Amino acid sequence: MTIFYKFEGKMYINITNGCPCRCVFCLRDNADSIKDNDSLWLEHEPSFEEITAAFDAFDKTGMTDAVFCGYGEPTVRADMIVRVAQYIKDNSDMSIRLNSNGLVKLIHPDFDINSFRGLIDSVSISLNAPDAVRYNEVTRPSFGEKSFDVMLRFAEEMKDICSSVAFTVVDIISEEEIERCRAVADKMGIPLRVRHYITDNESYT
Ligand code: SF4
Repeated sequence: MTIFYKFEGKMYINITNGCPCRCVFCLRDNADSIKDNDSLWLEHEPSFEEITAAFDAFDKTGMTDAVFCGYGEPTVRADMIVRVAQYIKDNSDMSIRLNSNGLVKLIHPDFDINSFRGLIDSVSISLNAPDAVRYNEVTRPSFGEKSFDVMLRFAEEMKDICSSVAFTVVDIISEEEIERCRAVADKMGIPLRVRHYITDNESYT
């Protein structure tokens, strides 16, 4: 069971395969792993003890960055992110990034994102589309069109909680839509990274 894996010099953390979305570009539909790592489909959601034991055993030589990512939406286990991030901070000097769809307030309405303060150093949020209608078509969240505004609010609030917030968009939408995404991001003062759509296991960040 692969909980931690190495990709481009960073340590990635795979704690859940759960996700309320069905993004049209989701790599989970096309591959079982990232590069030559083992399958990222988990046999079960790992316990805190299993995660910390895997962290202790993982070869972290030269690694300075940890990323909650994997084959699923990490905030499906928001409380576990907090516990694991605290453990990583207590046992390493790693900087911690969260890759998220930004929907934690819909997934766990009672979760206080202030719990991330001091633990999550940066967050990368999937903007995916320039408006609620297109977001619903591209991301296909189980919560429907209200998801877009919730995601934007999460991004805005995270600016006060961690030192770096970024948006991503995958280039499966049109150039014109990417430019509209850029306008949304610029208005919020958040940088936008355009990711190339991939259909195999070349990358997933
Ligand atoms: S949010 Fe991430 S894990 Fe969920 S469907 Fe979209 S790309 Fe896949």
